[in-house]
Amino acid sequence: MKVITRFAPSPTGYLHVGGARTALFNYLFAKHYGGRYLLRIEDTDKQRSTDKAVEAIFEGLHWLGLNGDEPAVYQSRQIDRHRQIATKLSSSGYAYYCYLSQEETKIYREKYKQEGKPFRSPWRNPDYDGDKNQKPVLRLRMPVDNDTIIKDLVQGEVKIANEQLDDLILMRSDGTPTYMLAVVVDDHDMGITHIIRGDDHLNNAFRQTKIYDALHWQPPIFAHIPLIHGADGNKLSKRHGAISVDAYKDMGFYSEAMNNYLARLGWSHGNDEYFSLKQASLWFDGTSIGRSPARFDIQKLVSINAYWLKNQSPKNLKNQIKTHNQQKKGKQISSEFEKRLDKLFQHLLERASTITELSSQIDYLLYDGAPKIEPEAKEFITKESCTLLESFSYILDETPLTPELFQNFVNNWLSEQGLKMKDLGIPLRIALTGSKSAPSIFDLIQSLGFDEVKLRIDQICN
Ligand code: GLU
Repeated sequence: MKVITRFAPSPTGYLHVGGARTALFNYLFAKHYGGRYLLRIEDTDKQRSTDKAVEAIFEGLHWLGLNGDEPAVYQSRQIDRHRQIATKLSSSGYAYYCYLSQEETKIYREKYKQEGKPFRSPWRNPDYDGDKNQKPVLRLRMPVDNDTIIKDLVQGEVKIANEQLDDLILMRSDGTPTYMLAVVVDDHDMGITHIIRGDDHLNNAFRQTKIYDALHWQPPIFAHIPLIHGADGNKLSKRHGAISVDAYKDMGFYSEAMNNYLARLGWSHGNDEYFSLKQASLWFDGTSIGRSPARFDIQKLVSINAYWLKNQSPKNLKNQIKTHNQQKKGKQISSEFEKRLDKLFQHLLERASTITELSSQIDYLLYDGAPKIEPEAKEFITKESCTLLESFSYILDETPLTPELFQNFVNNWLSEQGLKMKDLGIPLRIALTGSKSAPSIFDLIQSLGFDEVKLRIDQICN
């Protein structure tokens, strides 16, 4: 099957979660069938479109790995072609010029509304003899008989009576094409075979189908996917927190996790939870897309990200942590950092879901010397605990080297003094990490090495 899909954002803001999912579905569907996935910037609304938004959208797509297979088409640059088609529609009689003033249009609109009918202009009648003082708009002469039927890949067969459709505007009075005309012409010219987009466009699909019919063009196959809702069941909006894809990037989420999560928003493949873009494209054949709105659940995204975090190679993770911290502070990262991390890797990974979270928990491995002590841990560093820590520091010099022998040695040393592990463990952990909740004390000592342990005790207690 020949497949060419497209993602066609209007550049009025950043790439949001809903847009990213639309892009992703179009990408996956095209890749599944060995087709092409294209981009089109729908920038005909000059008032609302900005270059900054175009850039932000490209950046977001790039991050997700959803770049188009060809350079993006800019709708505003196709305007001559839109005009050419508009002229064709008017000369073939499928469209007509309407000279109603704004006030007159309003009156007609009101009249039809009261009758429960869509807007029609008297100018659709070729014999209408009205005033031509206004610059006209070009309207589609919408058929009034029969139904328009769409076999939507997601919604199934959907139907509307043509008498319910208005005589939509194709060209404005200033000679610019409307979205309705431009989208049809561009999709046709780009050879688009399948359009996957939000179901808020379903009504447009009926109207666009009539433009295709008027041009004797084959309409593409539509797949209108339910919009994403917030946890409260309302349509996803800024109220629900970050909806820009970039914001998730900045929070330390992986693009793999974002794609994995977005793919599952409204689509599923059995019980498979974690998969790559490549894997999803092998599965995504246009079936198994749900008909009810998916709910955006940040906790789910976090747990998927944790999976991707744990699946990074240690080498990559170390580099990511370093980059993250170099950006964060100007402090010198210890040359021992990687060695230290190796010993505590599993422990740390179990406790973090994002690279940001992970990085923020390991200052004590990144930098040499005493850590900054958390306020709630300060009370545990007392004169008494320092006495104990300092005597512990002395015995480090005399201890056997293997971890097991060392552990026995320390346990014996503590019981000789009538002390429990926690008597030493709490202040020692704080002296070494700045926090009460940190890895096992023996892993920690192994990771930092005796010299660094002694240095920190010394700095904390003096
Ligand atoms: N530009 C439209 C939007 O951003 C999408 C048009 C379409 O997919 O047909 O909502």
